[in-house]
Amino acid sequence: MPTYDYDLGVIGGGAAGLTVTSGAAQLGAKVLLIEKEPQLGGDCLHFGCVPSKTLIKTAAVYHQMQQAEHYGLPGIEVPPVDFASVVRRIRDVIETIQPHDSPERFCKLGAKVEFGHAEFTDEHTVRAGGKKITAKQWLIATGSSPAIPEIKNLEQVPYLTNREIFSLEKLPESLIIMGGGPIAIEMAQAFCRLGSRVEVIQRSSQILSKEDQDMADLLMHRLQEEGVTFHLNTTIKEARSNANLREIIYTDQAGNDQTVSGEQLLIAMGRSANVNHLRLPSISLAHDPKGIDVDRRLRTSHKHIYAAGDVTGAHQFTHAAGYEGGIVVSNAIFHLPRKTDYTLMPWCTYTEPELASVGMNEKAAQKAGINYTVWKEEFSGNDRSLAEGERLGQIKLILDHKENPLGVQILGLHGGDLIGEWVAALSGRVKLSTIASAIHPYPTLVEINKRVAGAVLSRKIFSAKVRKALTFFFNLKGRAC
Ligand SMILES: Cc1cc2nc3c(=O)[nH]c(=O)nc-3n(C[C@H](O)[C@H](O)[C@H](O)COP(=O)(O)OP(=O)(O)OC[C@H]3O[C@@H](n4cnc5c(N)ncnc54)[C@H](O)[C@@H]3O)c2cc1C
Repeated sequence: MPTYDYDLGVIGGGAAGLTVTSGAAQLGAKVLLIEKEPQLGGDCLHFGCVPSKTLIKTAAVYHQMQQAEHYGLPGIEVPPVDFASVVRRIRDVIETIQPHDSPERFCKLGAKVEFGHAEFTDEHTVRAGGKKITAKQWLIATGSSPAIPEIKNLEQVPYLTNREIFSLEKLPESLIIMGGGPIAIEMAQAFCRLGSRVEVIQRSSQILSKEDQDMADLLMHRLQEEGVTFHLNTTIKEARSNANLREIIYTDQAGNDQTVSGEQLLIAMGRSANVNHLRLPSISLAHDPKGIDVDRRLRTSHKHIYAAGDVTGAHQFTHAAGYEGGIVVSNAIFHLPRKTDYTLMPWCTYTEPELASVGMNEKAAQKAGINYTVWKEEFSGNDRSLAEGERLGQIKLILDHKENPLGVQILGLHGGDLIGEWVAALSGRVKLSTIASAIHPYPTLVEINKRVAGAVLSRKIFSAKVRKALTFFFNLKGRAC
């Protein structure tokens, strides 16, 4: 029997790697975690979720200050944003969270942390920090990086990605954003609210192309009202640098060339899996630029090497990385053959209002050829939303032919929190009647969940048939007015 230095080696100290390291070490495995950056936490803590949500909150407060009159308060002249101070707040929040992801904490849990770039030398051996380390099993959790499209002259034009945008020295007077996904749209609203002139260039005919068009369009119109300009259906031709301006030249749907210019250019056009520099071809591990091939137990083409998180190219969210981490611990440490199931993977775009989803939307149901019905309720009928000053938003419930929920989308204040009830309900196969009859506190945004479930059922309860039966049995006298 060969002997190894460790039971499990983990490459990458982000959401997926940290979940597996902590779980496996607490279960008694001898675990080594290798991280190439000087600190643990990965993209989410340093260049993703945490800085973006902190920036979004700052932008929302600044926006609200300018909206004082909307709340019956005296209007005020708000001074311009000092972006250096915003960046300091972002750093503060990161530094507050960082101790949770410290090597000392993982050492207390029983795992060793090494810093250095890791690469495979054989199927059980990794070289990192000048050492060769062997492990019986490995996890590759190296995350993803911003995908940079091939655009003529782009290499000569300075641009930003999520790695630079949260540490700019000053607020750009104008910002071009290439891409229409969640990162692009969240940044568009935040920078526009902070005072930048923002123009979004998107290839397809809608933003957030995974979402149903009606939901995405409602959100896009809100951003337009706030001042964001959208260029949809574009074919990018070229990038240029002109004095202190960056320029993007694209061809519009009518075939005409258009130029968009701005002080800064943000590229947010998807992600590439971090598969290079691991020497994967040297151990013949199946992968492509989109990610490492895994089966439903997250095993790669070498069964003792697992991959989880963004590097698989599947669902690139922190909660997906955490979920996959749990699957790896089950398989690698418990030796229980647990498989991934992404049917109920929720996601949210953290604009204001937020756009959150779980399960199937109309696009997915149509693609799967499923017969479905749609039930909607508007936030303009939710007392709390009105009290909060927000009329925009809707919940959209998709039901199958037996009226079982297939999925829910919520565009509304705190939509990401409101979807939680549906995540639990759909996961536990809870009946709509349970949600409709459960007591929800008034006045809350979450009442919209009860209301949409109630709308489906009230059609049956308040039917002519029921009225007729009650009249017959209990001698009801009918309408009074
Ligand atoms: C701007 C932005 C906002 C986001 N907002 C959200 C959000 O609100 N909600 C959400 O769920 N998700 C969000 N995400 C996505 C989320 O950040 C990722 O899905 C998550 O970080 C993936 O975790 P991971 O462990 O797979 O990878 P990562 O967190 O990227 O960790 C991978 C780690 O591996 C290390 N590494 C790479 N190669 C090597 C090597 N050869 N040797 C050693 N170490 C290596 C890296 O340095 C990194 O620390 C956002 C992403 C971005 C960019």
